[in-house]
Amino acid sequence: MRVGTVREIKNHEYRVGLTPESVHELAAHGHEVWVEAGAGEGIGSTDDAYKAAGAQIVASAAEVFAGCEMVVKVKEPQAAERAMLREGQILYTYLHLAPDPEQTADLVKSGVTAIAYETVTGPGGSLPLLKPMSQVAGRMSIQAGATALEKAHGGRGVLLGGVPGVLPGKVAVIGGGVVGFNAAQMAVGLGADVTILDRSPEVLERLAIHFEARAKTRFSSRANLAETVAEADLVIGAVLIPGAAAPKLVTREMLGTMKKGAVLVDVAIDQGGCFETSHATTHADPTYVVDGVVHYCVANMPGAVARTSTYALNNVTLPHALRIADLGWKAALASDPHLAAGLNVHAGQVTYEAVARDLGYDY
Ligand code: NAD
Repeated sequence: MRVGTVREIKNHEYRVGLTPESVHELAAHGHEVWVEAGAGEGIGSTDDAYKAAGAQIVASAAEVFAGCEMVVKVKEPQAAERAMLREGQILYTYLHLAPDPEQTADLVKSGVTAIAYETVTGPGGSLPLLKPMSQVAGRMSIQAGATALEKAHGGRGVLLGGVPGVLPGKVAVIGGGVVGFNAAQMAVGLGADVTILDRSPEVLERLAIHFEARAKTRFSSRANLAETVAEADLVIGAVLIPGAAAPKLVTREMLGTMKKGAVLVDVAIDQGGCFETSHATTHADPTYVVDGVVHYCVANMPGAVARTSTYALNNVTLPHALRIADLGWKAALASDPHLAAGLNVHAGQVTYEAVARDLGYDY
């Protein structure tokens, strides 16, 4: 199969669909790979690196869309890219169609076969193609929070790990799933005093077994949450209620009980945020202050570490890309129900129930 990848054109998107190493794998399976010139610039991979891996460099995205049977990307196709999609072509990328009627209509009109990373499932109902981005955001949240705690960034001037003779900073992680676990790992690694709150007994037990005495676990009742947040130097918001907006767990009133210069990092901002005073910010201007508390609410945290994020994403997307290229999409999906769950649009039909229901398509 001829597989291609393009330079991402969404604002501030530096990741790329295929790394040179992924190109090498596809080429080793006998596939031809076309890469738009400069596609890997954002992750520091040159056209020469792609050539050495076996890719053919083409001048424009238009050539990739015109010539490739499958296009592998990161972000949903933008309007200019959607205009280049062809009937029968396979599009393999993040799509997030439910809140995006315009994109959905264009994909339906194009006749493309669109497989969305975010709905590909794993054992036990997990979403393995979303997981690496939660891992990245969780780990980054401590880095971002530690920076915001510095005086020059509005914080209270606390070093999370402390130093010999000085107590470490207190970190509260609300939600102990993928983001929360990774945040806690980083905070524990720095030597901070870490408390993780969750409502799930299974999650709390798993965390307690993993961290032993290196982190505390606490049931996320209103009273426990209020007390833990009031004492914290850094609070990480990492809750998720699948399919729903994030609950506003830290209210404006609670900010008044917090230390001046404490920091809130709302990783759940992509679901509306779990602090009442959160609003989405950008990497260019990531923080703002409400009632003396610094807020960091960047909705696309993994974009800042595009190289790590691209490699983490390719680790989980490549095996499926190889199967699709080796077997053709029909046989690949027929042989793997988890991959089949990724099919969102095919031959002018919305093929994913929740998207069809939300946007009023027949299913
Ligand atoms: P997850 O499902 O693995 O974990 C969520 C956890 O929240 C679960 O353990 C659940 O029990 C817990 N929870 C639910 N209600 C709670 C409550 N009231 N109190 C305490 N805990 C509660 O989800 P995840 O992958 O860790 O993702 C967390 C959030 O981070 C999601 O909204 C996700 O979209 C977001 N995210 C944001 C970025 C970004 O760049 N900002 C990147 C990746 C993920």
